[in-house]
Amino acid sequence: MPTFQTVRGMRDLLPEEAETLNFVICKARETSQLYGYKEVVTPLVEPYELLSAKSGEEIRSRMFIFKDLGDRTVALRPEFTASIARLSTTALKSEPKPLRVFSVGSVYRYDEPQRGRYREFWQSNFELMGSNNPEADAEAILLTNSLLKATGLRDYTFKIGHIGVIRGVLSQENVDDKVQSAILQRMDKKEYDEAFKLIEQEKCRTALRGLLELKGGTPFETAEKIKKYVTGYDKAEAAADNLLEILQLATASGCPVKTVEPSFARGLEYYTGMIFEVNVPELDIALGGGGRYDRLIEVFGGESTPAVGVAHGLDRIALAMQMQKTALPTRREKTAVVIPVKPELKAEALKISQMLREAGVSVEFEVMGRKMGKALEDADKRKVDYAVIVGERELKESSVVVRDLAKHEQTTVKIAKLLEKIRV
Ligand code: AMP
Repeated sequence: MPTFQTVRGMRDLLPEEAETLNFVICKARETSQLYGYKEVVTPLVEPYELLSAKSGEEIRSRMFIFKDLGDRTVALRPEFTASIARLSTTALKSEPKPLRVFSVGSVYRYDEPQRGRYREFWQSNFELMGSNNPEADAEAILLTNSLLKATGLRDYTFKIGHIGVIRGVLSQENVDDKVQSAILQRMDKKEYDEAFKLIEQEKCRTALRGLLELKGGTPFETAEKIKKYVTGYDKAEAAADNLLEILQLATASGCPVKTVEPSFARGLEYYTGMIFEVNVPELDIALGGGGRYDRLIEVFGGESTPAVGVAHGLDRIALAMQMQKTALPTRREKTAVVIPVKPELKAEALKISQMLREAGVSVEFEVMGRKMGKALEDADKRKVDYAVIVGERELKESSVVVRDLAKHEQTTVKIAKLLEKIRV
């Protein structure tokens, strides 16, 4: 028989890894509730056309695309935003604004596998539709801060940029929208020379080069420098003002913004305004990122709706937690094994197990039919708190023997008082 392995880029998460991922998912869901985002569940398989509508060449080229048996061209979702945009123009169309929507699940991209980069990974996704005010942008940063704080991560920092600044300059220099997207894509990959090659006009190239080279001390100083640099480019100037306001709102609430970067671009084509990423020093890849996309909903046939969103890479957050040795909260509920002394007592022992489980105690039943000594030894290894031993003599008196496995003590307890005993 051949031994089977996972497909390249796909992983099995073993119990400890699954526990950490589930902890992060749980924190993401709690964050969604704290900020008033309603959860929706969308399909993993979507029409290719929907997913490719505005995701940008970069992601389009990395999608898992196939034909279903009905000859439809479909793909595994590479992100959530397209599905949410579809919902916002259909089932959620008449919902009052602002509309806050949360999703969590696996997404698929044919990325080159490496540490923290997989072909199947988990995201939590937050979208806020209907507001073009800077407090909406700041909310995406704030909730990311809340999520990371809740996971126990330390030293994470935000990097902020604004697509509107670059697009503002390029538009005023008459650079075509498509070319602008191509430039931003190159910039996202840090291929600046390639990006500049796409600009025909020397003046525009010089303007962009100068902008990208701006550096400051504090994020505020950089943002101010950007603003000064783009004087005369009206849209870019408004974008720089917007960036400053968002920066003020986010930092006033304690978000650790480390840098404002004029050369910062993100792979997804639909961003129109503020963009951001969050990083930890231990990893050189982002734990999450997002930004404003004011024209996306129109692309999906909806009314013009300003929107801002963020996606968090939950596997990367889990990886960062592992690297920082962040401890998961320990379970405080007691656990038990239930062991019948002989096969004839299985039914009674199962009944007792059910009673405990219904009261919320985690119970492993002795299913191996082992002798008492072996079963107890195994329970000890599994670090179970109590063994409940169901014997004939005790049952006649409506009792069982409870063994505290850590203390090596055992007592006979009435079944009616068993829960009380185990819960202490
Ligand atoms: P994006 O949807 O591209 O804005 O990505 C949002 C977040 O998803 C990133 O900041 C990463 O944390 C995470 N992410 C993106 N690609 C991958 C990948 N191939 N493997 C694991 N996490 C990823």
